[in-house]
Amino acid sequence: MASSFAKLARSAELSGRLQVSKDPVDNPPYDIHQLGDAVLRTPARRIGKVDEAVRSLARDMLVSMYAARGIGLAAPQIGVHQQLLVIDLELEDAASPPLVLINPEITGVGGTICTYEEGCLSIPGVYLDVVRPSVVEVSFRDEMGRPKRLKADGLMARCIQHEMDHLNGVLFVDRVTDDAKLREGLSEKGFDRADVRPIA
Ligand code: ZN
Repeated sequence: MASSFAKLARSAELSGRLQVSKDPVDNPPYDIHQLGDAVLRTPARRIGKVDEAVRSLARDMLVSMYAARGIGLAAPQIGVHQQLLVIDLELEDAASPPLVLINPEITGVGGTICTYEEGCLSIPGVYLDVVRPSVVEVSFRDEMGRPKRLKADGLMARCIQHEMDHLNGVLFVDRVTDDAKLREGLSEKGFDRADVRPIA
């Protein structure tokens, strides 16, 4: 998810620290695939053992996300089809640990159905309204393989749902209901409406 959001979030529980600098680097380990690239449409597989290779991938994803000034990144965006995503809503706070979610599952939704403007590192420069539940409960494993549960609202809830969509090959533009704004937003940034797969 892209970073130009107000910081609405109240994140609940953050998982253990991954030692990665939040300073943007010039040569991140991964390029981020963009709308139109087929890898974004391939569903991700569950991760079996959470080992050092998974943690290394998470670190590389964080470095790539920080380089792009994003607040969320899912493994399919770097062409890796594993159920792994990283989130950090506190880009300016070096001491605040990022959140790593492995094999995340939504276990409940609540609050209200709300409209919020989303962006995506795979569709840079495009920001459009998307409707989603305001509260989600998610179960996942952290970077140490420990089972965790998290109840989130605000920006964190929004970001978790956006990133989990990536694991299913779904992009936020698929959920945009205002087709006129969708066409305008995409064409302004050189993206093709034909690459959107509207959610029925
Ligand atoms: Zn995204």
